[in-house]
Amino acid sequence: MPIKNRFAELHDEITAWRRDLHEHPELMFDTHRTAATVAEKLRAFGCDDVTEGIGRTGVVGVIKGKQSVSGKTIGLRADMDALPIFEDTGLPYASKTEGVMHACGHDGHTAMLLGAAKYLCETRHFDGTCVVIFQPAEEGGGGGREMCDDGLMTRWNIDEVYGMHNWPGMPTGSFHIRPGPFFAATDTFEIDVRGLGGHAAKPNETVDTTVLASNMVLAFQSIASRNADPVKQLVVSVTSFETESKAFNVIPEQVTLRGTVRTLDPDTRDLARRRLTEIATHTASAYGGSATVNYMDGYPVMVNHEEPTEFVSDVARSVSGDLQKAPLVMGGEDFAFMLEERPGAYILVGNGDTAMVHHPKYNFNDDAIPAGCSWWADIIETRMPAA
Ligand SMILES: [Zn+2]
Ligand SMILES: [Zn+2]
Repeated sequence: MPIKNRFAELHDEITAWRRDLHEHPELMFDTHRTAATVAEKLRAFGCDDVTEGIGRTGVVGVIKGKQSVSGKTIGLRADMDALPIFEDTGLPYASKTEGVMHACGHDGHTAMLLGAAKYLCETRHFDGTCVVIFQPAEEGGGGGREMCDDGLMTRWNIDEVYGMHNWPGMPTGSFHIRPGPFFAATDTFEIDVRGLGGHAAKPNETVDTTVLASNMVLAFQSIASRNADPVKQLVVSVTSFETESKAFNVIPEQVTLRGTVRTLDPDTRDLARRRLTEIATHTASAYGGSATVNYMDGYPVMVNHEEPTEFVSDVARSVSGDLQKAPLVMGGEDFAFMLEERPGAYILVGNGDTAMVHHPKYNFNDDAIPAGCSWWADIIETRMPAA
């Protein structure tokens, strides 16, 4: 079951949809034009039901197979949002919105799932129901969580759910996957450091917050190197060090540190949270100051379920003739929320030799469209075969 001929026929049409989405990127939950475009197309394809406004701006389409003996429902999910990046591709269909760009290829994901929906509406050669899920706010907004909170899995009786992301640096249209933990939990922290401000020439009369907070930043690096099990993955990054003053001669009274913690298992996640808090408060008191840690849980670890991963691996192998084991990714993916509620799996499709995602020169590779669409459609036709 290689790439379906129908997707070779539809390739130009799907590419045109993708480039239209690329030209009109939208951020987070403000995916109004994108969602309206998706809903309009799903209705035109002949979906049995199309619901808008799930998880604020998410769209859900229902496609019933020609048989309904199995009673089974499979969800296929794509993300729709763009990033706050100034595009630097020089493409004829580059972003028309200054400072907003489809730099993660969600335009391609949405277009590929629309292509699969069109094909499945035409053919309906399966026994059960396919639910196509288009979510907003993958890039840090938790749109997947909001759709789940709106009852996505129960309202549409979804039994299994699958997701896909393009990946630069992997051969175009090739597939990469791994069972178990795949993408990291992405927690964030903000630390309010307090000391005693004063004249920079009289540090002896101050509690210097910048020296104190600098030691904190360095000590945080011992969490990964000295506290965590060395065979487990952990990243602690301080990304912002902000004082209240820009003066050359003032020791600030207060410093704010911000950063992120990335982990792939609950024990390491708990350890990092505990040690970060201990190091912050004890370092502050050692220097005569104080620290308040606000530790915020982000996306959970995205875990691919074993059997569904094996199943979609076979589908991927039949589509592209090749399948590689994907590397662990310390980035986050809010499809994790859907995989916490239902069994399923997430796969990477190669984007070829392009700039990395989130880079101003990145572009989704339209040559991956037939492989991506075929993978979606084959999941439905193989998992719920019609008699
Ligand atoms: Zn991204
Ligand atoms: Zn992405």
